[in-house]
Amino acid sequence: MAYTYDDTNIFAKILRGEIPNKTVLETEHSLAFEDIAPQAPIHVLVIPKGPYVSYDHFAQAASDAEIVDFTRTIGQVCEKLGLQPPSGNGFRAISNTGAHGVQEVPHLHVHILGGRMLGRMLQRAE
Ligand code: 5GP
Repeated sequence: MAYTYDDTNIFAKILRGEIPNKTVLETEHSLAFEDIAPQAPIHVLVIPKGPYVSYDHFAQAASDAEIVDFTRTIGQVCEKLGLQPPSGNGFRAISNTGAHGVQEVPHLHVHILGGRMLGRMLQRAE
C-alpha cells in the first residue's frame, strides 16, 4: 500500500512551528496538544512527529522507536490529565481515518476525550 503524505496539512504546520498550539506533552517523536474545538472538557490530540497519514500507515511504516514513543505518550497524557480509572473517570481514544472515518486532517492523530460522560461509542447515521 502506497501512502501519500501532504505536508501542507494543519498538523504539519503545527509541527513546523508555523501555527501555535497549546502543548500538553512533547517527546522525541510525539506531540500532544489541546484540540482547537473541544468536544469534551478534556480533548487532546496526540500526533507522531513523522509524516504519517493515518493509524494504519503509522503501524506499517513507523520505526519501533516511534511506535513505542507514540504509545507511551498517549499513556502519559492520560496520566497527566488524571483520566485513568480507578482514580480518574476514564476516557475515549479515537483515531478517525479516511472518508468513512470522517478524517479532517490527514496526519495521524489520536483524540483523547474525557471529563464528562461520553455516551455510546457510535450513533447510527443512515
Ligand atoms: P479529525 O476529524 O481529522 O479526526 O479531527 C481533526 C481535529 O483537529 C478536530 O477535532 C479539529 O477540531 C482539530 N483541529 C483542526 N484544526 C486545528 C488547529 O489548527 N489546531 C488544533 N489544536 N486543532 C485543530
